[in-house]
Amino acid sequence: MNLTKNKYNDSVQSQNKIIDIHQNQNKTFKIGLVGNPNSGKTTLFNRLTGSNQYVGNWPGVTVEKKEGTLKNHNLSANIIDLPGIYSLSPYSPEEVLTRDFIANDCPDLIINIIDSTNIERNLYLTTQLMELDCNMILAVNMIDILEKKGKVINYDLLEKKLNVPVVPISASKGGGLDKLIDKASEILHNQIIAFGQKNKIFCLNIESIINKISDIIEKDSNIIINKRFYAVKILEDDFIITSKFNFDTKTKEKIENLKKQIPTDDIFDREIIIADQRYKYICSICKQSTKQKITRKKKSLSNKIDVIATGKFTSIPLFVILMLAVFYITFGPIGNYFKISAENIINVYIGQKIENILIFLGASDWSLSLVMDAAVRGVGSVISFLPQVLILYGLLSFLEDSGYMSRAAFVMDKLLKKLGLSGKSFIPLLMGFGCSVPAILGSRIIENKKDRFMTIFLIPFMSCSAKTPVYLLFASSFFPYHQTIVIFSIYILGILVAILTAYIFKDSLFKGENSTFIMEMPEYKFPSAKNLWLHIWQKTKDFIERAGTVILGATVIIWFLESFDKNFSFVSDSSKSILALAGNFVSPIFTVCGFADWRVVVSLLTGLIAKESIVSSMALLYASDNAQHLSYILTNSFSIYAALAFMVFVLLYTPCVAAVSAIYKEFGSLKLTVFSIIYQLFIAFLFSALTFQIGTLIGSFIP
Ligand code: GDP
Ligand code: MG
Repeated sequence: MNLTKNKYNDSVQSQNKIIDIHQNQNKTFKIGLVGNPNSGKTTLFNRLTGSNQYVGNWPGVTVEKKEGTLKNHNLSANIIDLPGIYSLSPYSPEEVLTRDFIANDCPDLIINIIDSTNIERNLYLTTQLMELDCNMILAVNMIDILEKKGKVINYDLLEKKLNVPVVPISASKGGGLDKLIDKASEILHNQIIAFGQKNKIFCLNIESIINKISDIIEKDSNIIINKRFYAVKILEDDFIITSKFNFDTKTKEKIENLKKQIPTDDIFDREIIIADQRYKYICSICKQSTKQKITRKKKSLSNKIDVIATGKFTSIPLFVILMLAVFYITFGPIGNYFKISAENIINVYIGQKIENILIFLGASDWSLSLVMDAAVRGVGSVISFLPQVLILYGLLSFLEDSGYMSRAAFVMDKLLKKLGLSGKSFIPLLMGFGCSVPAILGSRIIENKKDRFMTIFLIPFMSCSAKTPVYLLFASSFFPYHQTIVIFSIYILGILVAILTAYIFKDSLFKGENSTFIMEMPEYKFPSAKNLWLHIWQKTKDFIERAGTVILGATVIIWFLESFDKNFSFVSDSSKSILALAGNFVSPIFTVCGFADWRVVVSLLTGLIAKESIVSSMALLYASDNAQHLSYILTNSFSIYAALAFMVFVLLYTPCVAAVSAIYKEFGSLKLTVFSIIYQLFIAFLFSALTFQIGTLIGSFIP
């Protein structure tokens, strides 16, 4: 047996960690990335593992832990990207996940990544991690920004003061990463054991109480690993940890007496005293090891922009203008140009060629119909909207990456509070414009259960990008010159319905305390092309994959059902098919909405599988040859008010099955999930009928 001691360690020697060095050479180590939200964990993770995880500029983007293997280094390790946390006293489910992983799964090494431009706040977590018996490296990130700000950190001094190895890095630029891995390798292969616990963070009195409680834990529960951590948590009255120990009455009394030795009053309870001492400790270390160069700019550009972006009278108009601009670029002339090009490519270059080849090969009527109607025209009609979906998504990612969306969340906090929500809800709600599924999962960043449930309940009203092809189809057919404003209004209606819903339920279904909202403001920056490309590429892959699987599948099923009658004989007139029979049974309900047609009902039904399927189903059921032809048929089948009513219905009705199952997973209640589905259907029907009826009424006055 061989145990190498290092300069950081001379007090802790836990037997469990003594492992033969030679055995260690071939081991695959487990390395956890731990840090505050937005400190750069995912960026570092992507750098080290070569994977393309989504890098977000707001907290909560990483909700579940992600694992990858270290690439291009002489160290065999699995890297785990954990959800960001501010402390080891968890409030939200994601914080629990991170803490459980660190304390129970015991990674071989923790890389605590901290944002050097916010070092005091980030070190708060570090002081808690130091209480664990776990190897740790402090990766001081974003040193590129730090340099620009004219700040200097004395890393050697910081290392000496904290008793933890410190490596300065820039995760996004790639600086210092080799050094980081070398350090990790050195620690892991030499089995150096935890360092930081010997630091005296608290005053003498509290330190001695912590030691006494540690001794009790060791004697009473036979726990030797992480006992300082547990002792501090017991002092802080951490419920989850305390309930893990089964102390007898006498020991409990002993601990209570020890706790009472810390003088508290109404304002300063024990938890606050402990937090306060941590900050004092951090302040003294930072004071010694950081320096501000004298040449400091008067006011940074970020601050200047923030005067407008978060100003009392300018913030909301700016938000509206930016959103209008985003919509105009997407749905105006620029987006249209791309849409028409895509249609041409699909119809002329791909569709015609396939048809010619099939005819040349002597394909039968029905196989020709299957390929051309279901695959080319059906799925093709969806794919032709891809460019515009990408433009919309890309622009929103651009705003997110630039740091603007964090400001928007901050501005919205006040508005959302009035609805019984907090600014934290803004992030998942905004993600809902992309796709409801990650948005629903992302709402785990909201620690307050009532806020979380309410947010999940509202997300489906945020129009997801899969619905965009439907709006585009109808807006370009019925309102070719006013597409931007029509689609913008649809999005706004979704938001208004969400607000209304929040208002209705805030005092009944989702009643409870409001939570406070802490959100950091990252510096504004020009979004990196790579990050933007990753977002867009991910979305493209996702879109094509869906088109090729779910949407194609649904379209083929629809094709089959509309091609055969109830005796399973091929029919050329689809109005005699099984599908028409079933659709005609339900369609009369929609008379008040103006679209009582079996083909519409069937399309809406396929929309439950994926919203884009509505478009492919319509292309198929209305037997259109191409996009222009479909527009032409639709304008002859719908009145403009019915078209509007239909868009409203699509906006508000039940989301796709993937989203419903995510809702069920998060609610953990079948009753609540069913209630949300019924509510969505009811609201969709109500607003759709109102749109049609009011529209028709107004229309009757216009000559
Ligand atoms: P996480 O929440 O800890 O996973 O943080 P992310 O990896 O999502 O990073 C948050 C933001 O900081 C992203 O916009 C990154 O591009 C940016 N970022 C990360 N590391 C650096 C760095 O070293 N320098 C600069 N300038 N930006 C960085
Ligand atoms: Mg992350």
